[in-house]
Amino acid sequence: MQNFAMMRRIPRMTVQRRLVLEVLRREGRPLSAKEIHRSIRQRLPKVSLETVYRTLNLFVAQGMAAAIYIPGGSTRYVHVAGGSSRPYFVCLRCGALEPLPRELAPSAGVLTSFREKGMEVTGYSYVVYGICRRCRGGEEG
Ligand SMILES: [Zn+2]
Repeated sequence: MQNFAMMRRIPRMTVQRRLVLEVLRREGRPLSAKEIHRSIRQRLPKVSLETVYRTLNLFVAQGMAAAIYIPGGSTRYVHVAGGSSRPYFVCLRCGALEPLPRELAPSAGVLTSFREKGMEVTGYSYVVYGICRRCRGGEEG
């Protein structure tokens, strides 16, 4: 497992942060901020969507979550363990999100090379964009 320097900077765990992290861990799949908001409001009715976004941005900055940007759709957030999220494929037509095999993620050596250049890697997300099978099928038929 890769150990990143960011591990020493665990943010202070407020109730909101703990709940957001719980949802991300439990679901284990990329979720939008709205989905997370809906889920934690059952236990914390007063929490705002704004707070959820702020919390997610903090987690991404700390390497505890990865953001998956979906053109024309809402960004999804996924829990990160050990500094890296698994790779995902995103369809540019329908927004479908498909997990890819972990072996396709950049190797530890690639990440170490950033450190050698004086950069501190706090985490990363690896997203491949393209057209999914279903959307391509529609084109050909
Ligand atoms: Zn598609």
